[in-house]
Amino acid sequence: MEKREMICINCPLGCILSVSRNEAGEVTVSGNTCPRGAEYGRTELTAPKRVLTSTVRIQGEKGRVVPVKTANPVPKEKIGDCMEALKGAEARLPVQIGDVVLENVAGTGIAVVATKGVEKELIMKELCSDIEETEQWCSEIMEHVRERIAQGNTLKGTGAYE
Ligand code: SF4
Repeated sequence: MEKREMICINCPLGCILSVSRNEAGEVTVSGNTCPRGAEYGRTELTAPKRVLTSTVRIQGEKGRVVPVKTANPVPKEKIGDCMEALKGAEARLPVQIGDVVLENVAGTGIAVVATKGVEKELIMKELCSDIEETEQWCSEIMEHVRERIAQGNTLKGTGAYE
């Protein structure tokens, strides 16, 4: 007889399930408030699955990624293979929420879909705001340097040119 206790993660109630399997392979679940809990306990004992969330690189956009998840839960023992497959995957812009980024991840028959839309314009906007921040920072430094020179101070001791 195999027996396990687990928390049902299907809703915030978090029922504590007691799941057991006898010698004949029959599974019984108790502690569940609804049928979803019974199904969860049965699957968790016999063939646990998880929805995998991760990110995928965007083609041609160095350092940029799009968040993704598997469209359905994948077998727990396949999570490592799925992560490996995602490392080599690339999304093409524009990406809309729900777009399939990778079909049949790691041979599971399950697709990986985007959980956020990304467009070229958005990336350009982010890059431009970075440039604006950098320009602002540089002009503040230059102002500080001009003030010191005007006051007859050297830049020695500031660490800026040492
Ligand atoms: S058994 Fe039903 S009520 Fe209890 S946590 Fe699971 S889904 Fe929620």
